[in-house]
Amino acid sequence: MVVGTHRNAQILISKSALYHNISNEKKRLKNNEYLFMVVKANGYGHGAVAVAHEAKKAGADGFCVAILDEALQLRDAGFDEPILVLGITDVKHASLMAERNISATVSSIDWLRAADEQLAQKNLPKLNVHVGLDTGMGRIGFQDKDSLKEAVDFLNQSDNLNFEGIFTHFSTADTHNVKYFDLQVERFNDLISVIDTLPKYVHVSNSATSLWHSEFNCNMIRFGVAGYGLNPSGGELNLPYELKPALSLTTEVVYCKKIDAGRSVGYGATYTSKEPEWIATVPVGYADGIVRALQGFSLLVNGKFCPIVGRVCMDQLMIKLDEPVKPGTKVTIVGQDGKEKITLQDIASYCDTIHYEVACLLTDRLPRIVVE
Ligand SMILES: *Cc1c(COP(=O)(O)O)cnc(C)c1O
Repeated sequence: MVVGTHRNAQILISKSALYHNISNEKKRLKNNEYLFMVVKANGYGHGAVAVAHEAKKAGADGFCVAILDEALQLRDAGFDEPILVLGITDVKHASLMAERNISATVSSIDWLRAADEQLAQKNLPKLNVHVGLDTGMGRIGFQDKDSLKEAVDFLNQSDNLNFEGIFTHFSTADTHNVKYFDLQVERFNDLISVIDTLPKYVHVSNSATSLWHSEFNCNMIRFGVAGYGLNPSGGELNLPYELKPALSLTTEVVYCKKIDAGRSVGYGATYTSKEPEWIATVPVGYADGIVRALQGFSLLVNGKFCPIVGRVCMDQLMIKLDEPVKPGTKVTIVGQDGKEKITLQDIASYCDTIHYEVACLLTDRLPRIVVE
């Protein structure tokens, strides 16, 4: 999708907010604990490269991504820190990963055997491997001691693979109820008991675990959403320190008009005015990630909430105003305007989803502009 550099709609990413969040977390860690900033999915929609730059300044020791291409993007941008791909990569790319010093997550002995065989035929540096453990997320990873032991023994005798890390992922670190969390901790400890020498990185913590269960951090955390200034629990758990949301999204009115009573607005004519009303057109829509479920949600104009009336179109939406405004008047979709603000969490709550998803859905058509 083309980046809309000539449009009056943009995502603003605050460097100081990213720095604040990441450096504060880094300060809470013990001296031997590494912070890897998770910048998958274009840095949760914030712009991976810009976030990685700020994370590095704030003390991040490495990065996590979801897919190999995201790791290559960081290498191409000049980052030489460790990068871990959290998802399973097709083993046919093992050589490329070794060549670019990108660490692979592994969930099966077959993957290790195939990678070892491939690499043996080439003169490449060793491929760094993090062994994934499924302790209850049910997504990827070894589940039992025997298969884990077999994989670790294979790694330790391989000339082409380096056993760099071992990790698991919690599915419930962000709620009051810790019963399932504790079960996962127990399974993790039981699994790793079969390993004689633990690798350099032992990690279990996403943002929620590091914020609320830091005693389990081992020696590395995978810090994601909180680095962007968002509370991983939504609002269920209180934060140990203030997080500053890094993303705001603003645009401007392109057209404003008065409509008579009884006129309809938008596809399907789902909204009809009961009295004469001021309606402004805003040049963003669901192709930008401003989803149709936001019909009825209020945006900020001159510090006042103005509801979206009618359906959100692909590229435009309409809002109802109390008074006319000039084209060019600022519209805030996420961020502060006067005394009021709209958060990604507000949008998520309205759409019955989570802020992670709202941020990821903002498409490339919205330019990301990095500000102080
Ligand atoms: C996305 C992800 C993280 C980061 O999670 P946050 O909740 O954003 O901190 C950590 N670990 C794994 C395996 C992930 O997939």
